Amino acid sequence: MQNAISLLGSTGSIGRQTLEVAELLGLNVRALSANNDIKLLEEQTRKFRPAIAAVFNDSAARDFKARVRDMDVRVVSGPDGLTEAAVVDGADTVVTAVVGTAGLIPTLAAVDSGRRIALANKETLVCAGELVMRRARAGGAAVIPVDSEHSAVFRCIEGKRAYAKKLILTASGGPFRGKSRSELKDVTPEMALNHPNWSMGKKVTIDSATMMNKGLEVIEAIHLFSVPPEQIEVVIHPESIIHSMVEFTDNSVTAQLSIPDMRLPIQYALTYPGILPSLTASLDFSRLGTLSFETPDLEAFPCLGLALDCARIRGTACAVLNAANEAAVELFLDGKLGFFDISDSIREALDFIENIEDPSLDDITAADEAARRFVIEMCALRGANSR
Ligand code: MG
Repeated sequence: MQNAISLLGSTGSIGRQTLEVAELLGLNVRALSANNDIKLLEEQTRKFRPAIAAVFNDSAARDFKARVRDMDVRVVSGPDGLTEAAVVDGADTVVTAVVGTAGLIPTLAAVDSGRRIALANKETLVCAGELVMRRARAGGAAVIPVDSEHSAVFRCIEGKRAYAKKLILTASGGPFRGKSRSELKDVTPEMALNHPNWSMGKKVTIDSATMMNKGLEVIEAIHLFSVPPEQIEVVIHPESIIHSMVEFTDNSVTAQLSIPDMRLPIQYALTYPGILPSLTASLDFSRLGTLSFETPDLEAFPCLGLALDCARIRGTACAVLNAANEAAVELFLDGKLGFFDISDSIREALDFIENIEDPSLDDITAADEAARRFVIEMCALRGANSR
């Protein structure tokens, strides 16, 4: 088991659950970080006594410093502060629970330092998977997935990697499962934020409603398990009991089951290869009822199809997909884009921005920025045209 962690993104859903697990396991928390929720960060800092607390937003960092001036904690800010927190002295594991591409540079710093990465920031692997995994191998850093599907595959495939034929990622289908494209055109942010099984942050909840989340997870799996996109299948499983499966050469399938609770994959990333008692309740098969499966509807959920295309194209296309999606989701939450404008914006950004194969970090950053700019400008144009 790991003894000390640095937690990037401690005030979000995964961050808060990681601290519950850290408390259960008696882990030392060496660094915490927040975007701007300094009230919660202060509570966490007083409880876990980290050496470093990073606040991404500069002015929030100044306020935070004043709040904790009675404490022996180093307060840092901005992207450099996040990187400093990632490589804090004495932490053997970095939990990357930051949302979005802000997690990329700190994750690279952590892999270069050879620490274990408990990876909850899927955007990092989506936009720079080759780079991150190459540097993790070079630095001797183990990348252990926290995403429930990848944690499931990780458990199923362990020791049998050479015989794996297909990874089967399960998807709950989100709040709009079974709805047709025409039924979805007037979806509001409130409707999309109402997820049936999982309690998560806003960004990933919208991604789940559009099924972009599953698309990003396919790309994440390609990098984590070094498999081509043809060997990954997505299946809708509304009960979210089977978290994913692996089919082997002999057509035998291994699945991982549990009640849906993110604290379980978080804990496994921290205790691997060990398995310890957890906060997750036991599965009661006598009350479970039916487990069902469906094929995803790519017409109603075009984001999934776009992600599968990008998984095949690779290069900077995945970074464009990810950044355009982040920007479009934010605009959708602000009421400035409709539900299908999310996929339309991403498609237009992919058409407009030229793909670069085998990209450098600079190429990835440039593609990310170009995609965000493009989506924001197109949204302003859409608004102007509709007025
Ligand atoms: Mg997931």
